Amino acid sequence: TESCLAAIDGAGALNAYCAKTPEIALDQAKAADVRLKAGDAPAMCGIPLGIKDLFCTKGVASQAASNILKGFKPEYESTVTQNLWDAGAVMLGKLSMDEFAMGSSNETACYGPVVNPWKVDDRKLTPGGSSGGSAAAVAADLCLAATGTDTGGSIRQPAAFTGIVGIKPTYGRVSRWGVVAFASSLDQAGPMTKSVRDAAIMLEAMASVDAKDSTSADIPVPNFEAALTGDIRGKKIGIPREYRMDGMPAEIAKIWEDGSAMLREAGAEIVDISLPHTKYALPAYYVIAPAEASSNLARYDGVRYGHRAKLAAGDGIVEMYEKTRAEGFGPEVQRRIMIGTYVLSAGFYDAYYNRARKVRALIKRDFDIAFADGIDAILTPATPSSAFGLGEMKDADPVEMYLNDVFTVTVNLAGLPGVSVPAGLDSKGLPLGLQLIGRPWAEGDLLNHAYVLE
Ligand code: GLN
Repeated sequence: TESCLAAIDGAGALNAYCAKTPEIALDQAKAADVRLKAGDAPAMCGIPLGIKDLFCTKGVASQAASNILKGFKPEYESTVTQNLWDAGAVMLGKLSMDEFAMGSSNETACYGPVVNPWKVDDRKLTPGGSSGGSAAAVAADLCLAATGTDTGGSIRQPAAFTGIVGIKPTYGRVSRWGVVAFASSLDQAGPMTKSVRDAAIMLEAMASVDAKDSTSADIPVPNFEAALTGDIRGKKIGIPREYRMDGMPAEIAKIWEDGSAMLREAGAEIVDISLPHTKYALPAYYVIAPAEASSNLARYDGVRYGHRAKLAAGDGIVEMYEKTRAEGFGPEVQRRIMIGTYVLSAGFYDAYYNRARKVRALIKRDFDIAFADGIDAILTPATPSSAFGLGEMKDADPVEMYLNDVFTVTVNLAGLPGVSVPAGLDSKGLPLGLQLIGRPWAEGDLLNHAYVLE
């Protein structure tokens, strides 16, 4: 814990942590020492973690990287972080992220961008997003592991951009209680770690059924680490042809080929499969996620949390809402709220929101059919490129940024578990990731496949 705290102090230039909590960390570390000495050492005992700013941590600023939550200190602890503290883990501080987890580059954070510890010729690169602070902190050894959240790829894409492991569990595996909501039917928290084994151990500690989240599942949490046997003989791996996008860079195609060769050598059978509705996933996601966000973010009204705008004489409650929200939300969040309210409006609900929900059902059915045909896991690239430069997308159409999520959003729409695992470096010397998608509730089996690729 002490060496992580020192490393954090020495790595301010990365801007990964938005709050440091050394007193809490040292107290928790001392308590972990006592438990270790008493022979009562749970799985995460004494392990120093960074926590994404989206998790409510009692008495510690939890702002979702937004000015609208400035100064918000929750009265309660999220279930996931409480589970981690109960398992003996230590909190080093809070980690930056895209505002309200909306973004793929960590550039929408109110704290300014996070810098990827990997670089090319001193050019500053994005760590990805939205869990960019988490990814940068793990990759730069500013914690042993971190929490992330993933609504459309926010654990897996930054993991790929920084050469670490990140898993989004099956929807319902982990409680969302106390995690600031973005799109409630898609959000899941998960671990971001240096190895597949660490991910297995930390996921087990995070997961639980929780009366405070009615969508958390009453399904036993197995010992995920015990599933890491490296034996995948006889398993069937699907290679979905629709993920072979036009213009896919040769280096991405190559790691995909290499990954399937590794799985084949380990005794798995590689099968071409079709997931025909893949091309509709991104448009469906960018209707459903903003729709849910616009509803979830209605609660930030200047009364209940954080920031309230200064009012002029004669201003009433409507002006208070308007000014507070105009000042507090950044441009990307405002864009999502506007898209969301538009697609939910009476005149357009059927044309957009309802249609997107139907498309979502078809995307899920594609996966159901593949698994019913005996496929155990699906292999795809995690991202269409390696990390791009900070500021590079500044003037681009926002849709350019959304294209980063092309391989990951299907997994959230279908509620499935997905893991990103490091797959070597590209010709620029930057990390690339492969994604494995698993059957619902089969995170152990999924991680075992990732273990073979590691
Ligand atoms: N990049 C996606 C978005 O901006 C996904 C974000 C996430 O998974 N939280 O919506």
